[in-house]
Amino acid sequence: MEVLYSSTRDSSKKVTASQAILKGLSDDGGLFVPDHIPSLECSMQELAGKSYQEVAYEVMKLFLTDFTQDELRGCINRAYDSKFDTEVIAPLVEAEGTYYLELFHGSTIAFKDMALSILPHLMITSAKKNHVENEIVILTATSGDTGKAALAGFAGVEGTKIIVFYPKNGVSPIQEKQMVTQKGDNTCVVGIHGNFDDAQTGVKALFNDKELAQKMAARGQQFSSANSINIGRLVPQVVYYVYSYAKLLEEGRIEDGEKINVVVPTGNFGNILAAFYAKNMGVPINKLICASNENKVLYDFFMTGKYDRNREFVLTSSPSMDILVSSNLERLIYRIAGEDAQKNANLMAALSQEGCYEITGQMKEQLADFYGNYADEKETAGRIKSMYKNTGYILDTHTAVASAVYQKYVAGTGDRTTTVIASTASPFKFTRNVMNAIDGKYDSMSDFELVDELSGIGNIAVPNAIEEIRTAPVVHNNVCDKTEMKEAVMRFLGIGS
Ligand SMILES: *Cc1c(COP(=O)(O)O)cnc(C)c1O
Repeated sequence: MEVLYSSTRDSSKKVTASQAILKGLSDDGGLFVPDHIPSLECSMQELAGKSYQEVAYEVMKLFLTDFTQDELRGCINRAYDSKFDTEVIAPLVEAEGTYYLELFHGSTIAFKDMALSILPHLMITSAKKNHVENEIVILTATSGDTGKAALAGFAGVEGTKIIVFYPKNGVSPIQEKQMVTQKGDNTCVVGIHGNFDDAQTGVKALFNDKELAQKMAARGQQFSSANSINIGRLVPQVVYYVYSYAKLLEEGRIEDGEKINVVVPTGNFGNILAAFYAKNMGVPINKLICASNENKVLYDFFMTGKYDRNREFVLTSSPSMDILVSSNLERLIYRIAGEDAQKNANLMAALSQEGCYEITGQMKEQLADFYGNYADEKETAGRIKSMYKNTGYILDTHTAVASAVYQKYVAGTGDRTTTVIASTASPFKFTRNVMNAIDGKYDSMSDFELVDELSGIGNIAVPNAIEEIRTAPVVHNNVCDKTEMKEAVMRFLGIGS
């Protein structure tokens, strides 16, 4: 059955999946949502034993209904190949009796690769299908990981350019080095004086800038988004939740139909929304456990029903979760508002004008599937250390937030349901904080000495992504104020003002 997409702020117009992927964000500022969430056609028994690529096809074909079988399989095969350092693509690792779903085996060692290695292919296929001749200019705000993964995905891809904005002082040294060493004439990386929310707000404003859009159109260019608001990112993320359930079943860890809990370290709410979609497709998921760091807007929201971004922005050791406006939450709000676009639009207007909104009791009742909590910096570091001591397994800071929140969940509820924790980054990406958590003595070492030390104590090879940047020259050194993002874009695109 065909799935069409409409905006969370206006359901009158419907577009196909490929059109939604091309546009990224709807003209009214809303996010594209499917008109229904399709049910899985294969049983879990059938999916068990299938490869990642096969499961990806079974899931994605249900959402991207205007792609032909050849088109979709082509995209999947080009994305999930030897760029990943393991054939299983997303391994499940057991530690302390729970399962860590390692989503960091792609080329930039963070979970963003799971979607961003396929998005360029989905985008180019979508352009062809819709006879779009324009050059596609990807405009992206990053809290650290999206930027590099998008750059790696789009670098050198014909018919595209990519511009990435990141908070100059809000990413880890390794994250920054990964981005500013990115090769490819079609890439542009800019640090801004501001935080991630400033970058994201600036990018949204550029998307809605009609004057800029006209100038670009005159030059045969149009914007699209690689941020997690693009359904071309959301859909590939649903895959690994289906896959992990099938794998647990295949390995005899669970009975068919047995429910599992899922824990997700959350920032922009994309990854956990994908888990929610997986649950709605029929994956037996009990609780969706939403883990936040000290920027705990989401925890407060789940507790009180009030979303309030009016608070201090905290820079933490899990920078990819340092977010006060979780864009993808809008898709959940729209759904619990009974798919009432006007109701959702009113709440989002309140968010942009007053920085907060409150949902009704009736809407809050529909959030029973979710459990929210947070871990502070001390708890996060403590979790890295205790996990290492107990098992030798080394968590990155984001996954450690999730693991610490999971401990709180178990302590608070006594629920011992089999649990999958989304492991969103390699510890090599956040080496300093990880190593400092394990032992204070590492503090005096340089970033790359720490890399080698981590490799030694964890008995894990240094990933390619890190080896690559050890000696790579810096090729991007643009920094601008958060008010100068438009000028930076125009300069790169060669548009005079
Ligand atoms: C992006 C990211 C997150 C947050 O994911 P969302 O989909 O934005 O909620 C968590 N951990 C890491 C390592 C990330 O890169």
